[in-house]
Amino acid sequence: MEIRKRDMLARSGIMTVHDTTVKTPAVMDMERLFPSLLSMRLSNIPLSAPEDFVRSYSVQNGNQPVTIYPMLDNTAQSGDCIMVANWHTAFLNPRNYVDWLVTLKEKTPPDTTWYAPAAALPANVHILIYTGFDLFDFRAVDLKTVQGIFCTAESEFPKTAMKSGICSCEGCKTENLKMHNRKALLSEIALITRFIEQGQLRELVESRCRMHAVHVAILRHLDNRSTFTEPRVPIARAGVMRVNSGESMNRVEIRRFAERLISRYIPPKADVAVLLPCSAKKPYSISQSHRRFQAAVAHRAHELIVTSPLGLVPRELETVYPAGHYDVPVTGYWDAEECAVISGIIARYFARNRYRRIIAHLEGGALKVAKMAAETCGITLEYSCRDYPAGDEALANLDLALAGERRIKDDRLHGMCSYQFDIDLDTRDFSMRGRFPEIFYSKNNVQCFSIDTATGMLRPTFDGWNLIPEGYRVTIDDFVPEGDVLVPGVENADPQIREGDEVLVTGPRAWATGKAAMPGDEMCQSKRGVAVRVRKIKRV
Ligand SMILES: [Zn+2]
Repeated sequence: MEIRKRDMLARSGIMTVHDTTVKTPAVMDMERLFPSLLSMRLSNIPLSAPEDFVRSYSVQNGNQPVTIYPMLDNTAQSGDCIMVANWHTAFLNPRNYVDWLVTLKEKTPPDTTWYAPAAALPANVHILIYTGFDLFDFRAVDLKTVQGIFCTAESEFPKTAMKSGICSCEGCKTENLKMHNRKALLSEIALITRFIEQGQLRELVESRCRMHAVHVAILRHLDNRSTFTEPRVPIARAGVMRVNSGESMNRVEIRRFAERLISRYIPPKADVAVLLPCSAKKPYSISQSHRRFQAAVAHRAHELIVTSPLGLVPRELETVYPAGHYDVPVTGYWDAEECAVISGIIARYFARNRYRRIIAHLEGGALKVAKMAAETCGITLEYSCRDYPAGDEALANLDLALAGERRIKDDRLHGMCSYQFDIDLDTRDFSMRGRFPEIFYSKNNVQCFSIDTATGMLRPTFDGWNLIPEGYRVTIDDFVPEGDVLVPGVENADPQIREGDEVLVTGPRAWATGKAAMPGDEMCQSKRGVAVRVRKIKRV
């Protein structure tokens, strides 16, 4: 299978079996693709079956697809098509679903295609694809047809609903329930594929799962397995991240931002901080209110933006994904869980980074969480406004509160480098040109970094990489890449690399800069696919 786009466990791509190419995710008559399925017996072993039982009854005949079991060691290899028999029964228990899924995914090579037989329905296929299945058949929907059930992506109805105008497909027009049910599954898979390609599958799944408690439970259990999910989620996406449900707070991207803020980010040398509210426009700096805040602060304090769901965004990180990309419903009301999570992040930040003065220029929910955080970590806040922080009176108060404080150096590059590469870059002798957010950084007139305007991340040149002593390296064999670096050429890759990370490719004959197309671990475990999308190549 050639993966074109991936998002955590979901993939879209092209699979080739003999002479047939299939665009995945796909639903089809699998016996036509794999005739051996017709004569396959005894694959119907329960997912919970213990190892001995599976060993006695499972048949490994060397044909594709290869059947794998939660309790048995992996028998599949790179490039195989995998079948997980009875997967539809996993929906009976969401905790088992996630436990078995993690077990199976962790022991199986990533470049395998996954088939869930007799499982897909228009209403559950979003979860199946989100959790890493690529191939489906019509068995489950055909069974619904026999039972007289009209299937849609949202729910199931008696077949009389077919005449109510819910759907106007060819099947509904001719009162052919089987045709409608199959078409409903096909069009739902087409829609999901579209969302994968736009990098917004999570948003679709968060909205679809609302109709089934089991789906919500699977999503939540999987979100709690962050050591498994985090490496599989891209570091950045182009486009908006919609943070519109309770589950959005637990997205890997949100947690990762807070984690790196606390563990990696190094603030500028400043002993005064000002806490500011967020703005609907991103990055904040281009909004009217933030232009006014920045004019009032006039570089006399370190600016920290208090926001849900990210917690705290230092001014230098405002372009970085997802700080520059999230969209959240603004009502002024922050619920208890939101307040607890966000005040926790702020408290951890101030416990690690000490300031002489912290001025809260906030109102409403943001002010409440700042107060909660102050209490938790034992810091004292000053207040420069009561309401309407962007108003003239509040801004005059802020200006007055900062009177006599010395200017601090605006060092976006230093902050971004610490967050993205975990380094404490010496930024003396650096100069900046360009217009925000399209910025280039040079050292002694040699360009070292630019900001990728789509993702807001730093893009180092070869000279920039010389300043990053370690990490984010991919080592390749003795060859000069022509275009992208493919997996078979990779010797080793830093395990902290995530898809979308900037990486340096090094080899005995060539170096290259580019973006990782898959996680570092997967570069080592796979046998096919693009590992790094190369920007520049240099012979050494
Ligand atoms: Zn229809």
